[in-house]
Amino acid sequence: MKMYVAGQWTDKPNTIEVRNPYDNAVLDTVPRADKGDVERALQSAERGAKAMAKLSGYDRWKILRKAAELMAARQEDLAQTISKEEGKIIAEGRLEANRAVETIMGSAEEAKRLHGETVPLDGAPGGAGKFGVTIRVPCGVVVAISPFNFPLNLVCHKVGPALAGGNAAVLKPATDTPLSALKLTEILLEAGVPPEGINTLTGSGGEIGDLLVTDRRVRKITFTGSRDVGERICKQAGLKRVTMELGSNAPVIVMPDAALDKVAAAVAATGYANAGQVCISTQRVLAAGKVYGDFLDALRPKVQALKIGNQLDETVKVGPMVREREAVRVDEWVKEAVASGARLVTGGKRQGAFYEPTIVADVKPEMRISCDELFGPAVAVTPFSDIDEAIALANDSNYGLAAGIFTENLEWAWKFAREVQSGNLHINWGPQWRADLMPYGGLKESGFGKEGPRYAIEEMTELKMVVFHLSS
Ligand code: NAP
Repeated sequence: MKMYVAGQWTDKPNTIEVRNPYDNAVLDTVPRADKGDVERALQSAERGAKAMAKLSGYDRWKILRKAAELMAARQEDLAQTISKEEGKIIAEGRLEANRAVETIMGSAEEAKRLHGETVPLDGAPGGAGKFGVTIRVPCGVVVAISPFNFPLNLVCHKVGPALAGGNAAVLKPATDTPLSALKLTEILLEAGVPPEGINTLTGSGGEIGDLLVTDRRVRKITFTGSRDVGERICKQAGLKRVTMELGSNAPVIVMPDAALDKVAAAVAATGYANAGQVCISTQRVLAAGKVYGDFLDALRPKVQALKIGNQLDETVKVGPMVREREAVRVDEWVKEAVASGARLVTGGKRQGAFYEPTIVADVKPEMRISCDELFGPAVAVTPFSDIDEAIALANDSNYGLAAGIFTENLEWAWKFAREVQSGNLHINWGPQWRADLMPYGGLKESGFGKEGPRYAIEEMTELKMVVFHLSS
């Protein structure tokens, strides 16, 4: 496919191959953007921002609603594109395509809700006769940089609220998975986004990322991706508004009163979806000593039943990882843990980009499969003795994106919600659950700022305070 720069679908002699992780077959090629393309995109986005700012909220709502309708009409094509380029099973591709419609529809609705408020200035000393009101205005040019693992919906979580807020977006999708984002760009233009309201650059983040994030014409950066790239962007960005949606090693706590069948079903569902490549995947299970063995017995058959294979085969539950080198890394971390005293309960084998759904028990917090972000289809299980130890273990992480607890005890559930340092907390489900309308984002090194259209649009707009100094 071509990239979309300065109102033109643009090709280049220098291209990047987009491959299906299942068999490495080339699906398509995309241009490799360079410095000149970044400059053209930013010049265009400045013009686009002016065009976007002229649209009324109603116009923006109509355009995004139309985009959601077009996406709904092309669901299966979008789902196939997601699955083929990313490797997630087709059921997950369909779910993502469906969620993306909701995200764009939710963004459309927010275009109508950019409320300000009146501020009672006469409550301040010397405030008599003053009248204050806040208004929200677009930031201008928004740079959106997205990861490979949700190549459509996470792009929608950025571009949707950016356009709803009256900004121009410059999108840089992940190099492994640019096709879904390009198809979305086609749809947005077809729905009526002004020709320069969006620019979509394909190419290496390592090559063009700094140019995008350091440029002074950019007023807002919204990034989803790894912790290290996020930190680099923050350092480079300077004085700009920044939203960071970064990684995690999400824990789930299994209290002694938990219904173990339900826990096992939840861990199997939330630990291995998308071959574990979800930022909120269950990575660490902290299980009460009293139920530790029974929990492993309940989980093992459920994980062993997860069939791996071609992601387009409807019977397959776990597809390949996005690249073989990621499967090699997961294998190394699992082997390293086992060599340091952890116990392989099931899985632990790699074939190309495939990694068997794996359970590792007796994991110590300092092992990499526990303390770093694994981002693969393996779950690390660690015992604890009481809720205080469980919460301390859950918090023994630089990350804090999502966490879960299984218990029927309200006191424990509330203590967990108050004390676990995490942006999303789930009672009686695993951490991997998200409704696209909810506020979503991490604490600590999992990032800052919230997504979910209602919250993201606030991050994508500036609050202005207007004071009327009235003489009467
Ligand atoms: P990544 O390697 O950090 O890449 C993310 C994006 O950043 C890609 O578009 C990448 O481009 C670009 N990039 C790379 N270097 C850059 C630079 N120097 N400046 C600007 N942009 C640069 O992450 P990933 O492997 O795609 O995704 C997995 C990570 O995302 C995991 O850590 C996961 O937890 C996190 N994630 C977080 C959330 C959340 O909501 N918190 C959701 C999903 C994923 P290239 O592809 O060209 O390198």
